[in-house]
Amino acid sequence: MAADESRAEFQRQELVRVLLVEDCPDHAALITAKLKKATRLRAEITHVDRVSSGLERIADSDFDVVLLDFSLPDSFGIDTFRRVHEAAPRLPIIVLTSLDDNQLAVQAVREGAQDYLIKREADTRLLVRSILYAIERQTAEDALRDSEERYALAVRGANDGLWDWDLGADVVFYSPRWKSMLGFEVEDVGDSPREWIDRIHPDDRPPFRRHLDAHLAGASEQLEFEHRMRNAAGEYLWVLARGVAVRDESGKPYRMAGSQTDITARKRAEHQLQHDALHDGLTGLANRVLFIDRLAFALADVQRRAAPHFSVLFFDLDRFKNVNDSLGHAVGDKLLLGISRRLEHFLRPGDTVARLGGDEFAILIHRVEDASGAIHVADRIQDILSMNFSIGGHDVMVTASIGIAHSSTGYTNPEEILRDADIAMYRAKAEGKARYEIFDRDMHQSAVALLKLETELRRSVHRGDFLMNYQPIVSLDRGRIVGFEGLVRWQHPERGIVTPANFISIAEETGLIVPLGWWVLRESCQQTRLWQEQFPSEPPLWISVNMSGKLFLKSDMVDHLLGILEETGLEPRSLRLEVTENVVMDHADLAIRNLMELRALGIQLSIDDFGTGYSSLSYLQRFHYDELKIDRSFVSQLSSPGESRAIVETILNLANSLGIGVVAEGIETADQVDRLRQMKCPHGQGYWFSRPLAPPAAEELIASAPTW
Ligand code: C2E
Ligand code: MG
Ligand code: MG
Repeated sequence: MAADESRAEFQRQELVRVLLVEDCPDHAALITAKLKKATRLRAEITHVDRVSSGLERIADSDFDVVLLDFSLPDSFGIDTFRRVHEAAPRLPIIVLTSLDDNQLAVQAVREGAQDYLIKREADTRLLVRSILYAIERQTAEDALRDSEERYALAVRGANDGLWDWDLGADVVFYSPRWKSMLGFEVEDVGDSPREWIDRIHPDDRPPFRRHLDAHLAGASEQLEFEHRMRNAAGEYLWVLARGVAVRDESGKPYRMAGSQTDITARKRAEHQLQHDALHDGLTGLANRVLFIDRLAFALADVQRRAAPHFSVLFFDLDRFKNVNDSLGHAVGDKLLLGISRRLEHFLRPGDTVARLGGDEFAILIHRVEDASGAIHVADRIQDILSMNFSIGGHDVMVTASIGIAHSSTGYTNPEEILRDADIAMYRAKAEGKARYEIFDRDMHQSAVALLKLETELRRSVHRGDFLMNYQPIVSLDRGRIVGFEGLVRWQHPERGIVTPANFISIAEETGLIVPLGWWVLRESCQQTRLWQEQFPSEPPLWISVNMSGKLFLKSDMVDHLLGILEETGLEPRSLRLEVTENVVMDHADLAIRNLMELRALGIQLSIDDFGTGYSSLSYLQRFHYDELKIDRSFVSQLSSPGESRAIVETILNLANSLGIGVVAEGIETADQVDRLRQMKCPHGQGYWFSRPLAPPAAEELIASAPTW
C-alpha cells in the first residue's frame, strides 16, 4: 500500500517529539503506554497537565506534534486549542476528546488542528497513524505556503530574479530568472549564499553586508540595496536587491526571501545625467559646477592642513573671436576640442581642467608650494597652445592670457579663488596678452575700483552726464582754423570732469561705448552745423569725431550715421571719422564693408595716432583713407635731433605721393610749428594753438578769427 510505504519512511525510526497536554493522570498514562508500544515510531513524550506549562515548553524546546486535551484546569474548550495554535502556528496539533465534546473537536480541525482522536477509541495503531499523518500534512502545508509566498513575489516582478534564503541551513534558492539575468544556465549556480555575495562588486560588498545585517537584526522594514553584480561574462550589472526576513515567534529570522531587479539601464541614464550636469558638452571637460566643487574640496584639505597648497590658473584665449569670425564656428569648436585634449594630456592625474564657457578654461593644480610651480605650468600651457593646430586645412596657433591664484593667500571659499584668478587674467590681457599674471591684493583693490567705475559709467551713460570739448585744427599754410576735433568729457557727479583716458577703455570693454559714441557723434554734428551757419566759409568748418572700432561692427552702423547727418543737417563732407590703426588692422569683414560705404557717401576717414600701431601704408592705400594724424609722440621730439624727424618726413612724403591729408597732433611749441611748416605738413593741432575748449569758448575763438 502506498500509504504504508510513505509511512515506512518514518520507520527509519526518526525520533518524534511529542508534547502531551493532559490533566487526567490515567489518560496520560494510557496514551504514553500506547505510544511506547508502537513499533513504527520512536516517541519522546513530554507530559504536562496545564496549558500554561505546555506553552512554556513550546517556547523553549522543539516538538514535532502536540496531543492536546480540551478540558484542563487552566483552560477549557476551543480556547485551549486556539492558545496553543497561536503560539506555534506550524506545530501540528491533535486534539484529544471524549465523546461528548466531539463538536468542539470538529471546530478545532476547521481552525487548523490536524486531527482529533476520541480517547477511548484511540489504540496504538490509530494513535501512530494520526501522529504521522499530522506531521506529514503540516510539512506539506508549509511547503505549499512557502511556494505561495514565492509565487506572490514572482507576481510582484515578473522580470525579476527571485531568491529564497533558508537562514538556518544557509541555503539559497535562486530562481532561473535570477541566474539568467546574470548570464548563467540554471545548473551553473549552486545554492550557497556565496553565489550571490561573491559576485557583488568589492566596493559594494561591505555596505551590502551592513544593510543585510541591519535588516536581519530588525532595524529595517525591508532590505533594499542597489549594487553591482558580476555576470557570467565578468562584467558588472547594476541590480536592486529587495527582500524581507521571515521571523519566528521570538522575532528571530529563519528565512529571507526577495527579488533582484536589473537596473543597469536606469543607472546608466542616471550616470549620463549626472555627467552632463557636471561636464561641458563640447569638450567633455569639467564644467564650472564641478570645478567649484573640486576647488571646495581642495580648499577644505588645505584648511585642515591635510594637503599642501594648490594653484588655480584661469585663462582665456587671445583673439579666439578672430578664429571664429574668420574661419567659422566649426573650426573654432575643433580648436577648443584640440586644446582640451592637449591640456588633459599634460596634466597630472588628480588635477582638474575645466571649460568655464566660451574660450575660458580653468585648471586646478594640487601640491604647488608657491607661485613658481604655477608659473611653470603657465609656461607649459603657452607651449602647448603655440604648437600648431591643424584644423580642416587651416593652421591655427593661439596664445592665452593666464591669471594665477594661489591657495596661500588665505581663501575661505572657492568662488573667491576663481574670481581672483579671473582678475589676474584680466590684468594679463591688459598688459598685452600672451602672458600670465599672479593675483595680489593690489589687483583686488584696483578690480574693485574698476567695478565701481563701471557702475558709475553705466549710470552716467544712462543719465547723459557728458559734455563735449572742441580743439581747433589749423591750416599750417594759412594759419587759420579749418576744423575741430570733438573730444568727450565725463562730468562725474563727485570727481568733476574726467578725461577720456580714464574711462574710454572701460566703455569699450563694457559696450557702453556704443550708446556713448552715438551721443558724441550727434552732439558734434549739431554743434558744427550751428558754427557753420554762424561762421560761413568755403570749405565749411569740419568736425573730426573719434569712432570706436565697436561701432564699425554694427550692421546698422551706416543707417544710424546717415540718420544723424539728416537730423542735424550736416553735409557728409564736413564729417571726418577718426579710427585707430587697430580698427583698420583687425579688418573684420563687416567693419571694412561699413568703412567703404561711408567713403562712398562722401564721409572722410582719418587714421588717428598714426605710427603707434601696426598699420602699414599699404592699408592706407587699399582702403582709401583721406587723412592720417601723426601721433604726438613723434611731434614732441621734433626739436631734438634723432629718428623722429626722419619718420615724420617719411610719413609726409608718402602721404603726399598717395594724395592723403595729414594732421600733426600735439604741437606745443613754436619750434615744432616751424619745422612742420618747413616739411610742408598741411595741418596741425595742439596746445600751441589751443587746448580743447567748451563750446562757448570755442565759439569765441572762431569769432576772434585768429591767425598763427
Ligand atoms: P586723440 O584722438 O589722439 O585726441 C587727442 C588728445 O590729445 C586729446 O586728449 C587732446 O586733449 C590731447 N592734446 C591735444 N593737443 C595736445 C598737446 O599739444 N599736447 C598734449 N600733451 N596733448 C594734446 P583727450 O581729449 O584726453 O583724448 C584722449 C583720447 O581719448 C583721444 O585721443 C581719443 O583717442 C579718445 N577720445 C576722446 N574723445 C573720444 C570720443 O568721443 N570717442 C572715442 N571713441 N574716443 C575719444
Ligand atoms: Mg582723435
Ligand atoms: Mg590722436
